[in-house]
Amino acid sequence: MAVNIVLLGPPGAGKGTQAKRLEQLYGMVQLSTGDMLRAAVAAETQVGLRAKAVMDAGNLVDDEILIAMIADRLEQPDAKRGAIFDGFPRTVPQAEALDRLLAHRGSRLHQVIEMRVDDDALVARIAGRFTCKSCGAGFHDAFKPTKQAGICDACGGREFIRRADDNAATVKKRLTEYYAKTAPILPYYRARGALKTVNGMADMDAVTTAIAEILGPPPAESTH
Ligand code: AMP
Repeated sequence: MAVNIVLLGPPGAGKGTQAKRLEQLYGMVQLSTGDMLRAAVAAETQVGLRAKAVMDAGNLVDDEILIAMIADRLEQPDAKRGAIFDGFPRTVPQAEALDRLLAHRGSRLHQVIEMRVDDDALVARIAGRFTCKSCGAGFHDAFKPTKQAGICDACGGREFIRRADDNAATVKKRLTEYYAKTAPILPYYRARGALKTVNGMADMDAVTTAIAEILGPPPAESTH
């Protein structure tokens, strides 16, 4: 059966890193609305043109745009394997819409995992992060530098990307948005017993282990 989970947490909590690991372990597909929006900005689609300034300022893009984006994405065949929602929902209306969208497909949300991290750590984590332009592998100046300077460990690529919104001023605004608009989702899920919290301050492997303990053993056929 397809399992759908949400990773909740402030920017820099490690949602993207863990979503990629869970994708490998469990076989569901990572649905990162931040990645989808950045792709739309790069392709200069209508959505991308509307979203760019909002994202650069660290604000949230309109619910209506995000909900339509996720609805379309859930239509694609790979989403039938189940999804790891990374960066969605970010508001209560988005959470309600996700319930409706999944119910409409005869499915539901199985688990919501909150990754809790201290604010001070978030700014340091975000400020130094960068990804390989070719394969998307994630690195960090202080916590996870490339083994050889300027060369991606995973694919040997030599070009890297730093997100435009990963600067100190925008990070502060993104955190404010998180506490004002996204944190209110926590009681929404807690009320129905779907919420579990993990310590996002632990090292990456320990966080993966903690999440795997919540989700249970991965199906044998999707473990690689
Ligand atoms: P992320 O990569 O998840 O940190 O998202 C980067 C930016 O994209 C956010 O700061 C928002 O501007 C926008 N964004 C991503 N997901 C959402 C969402 N579910 N709702 C509103 N805005 C979003």
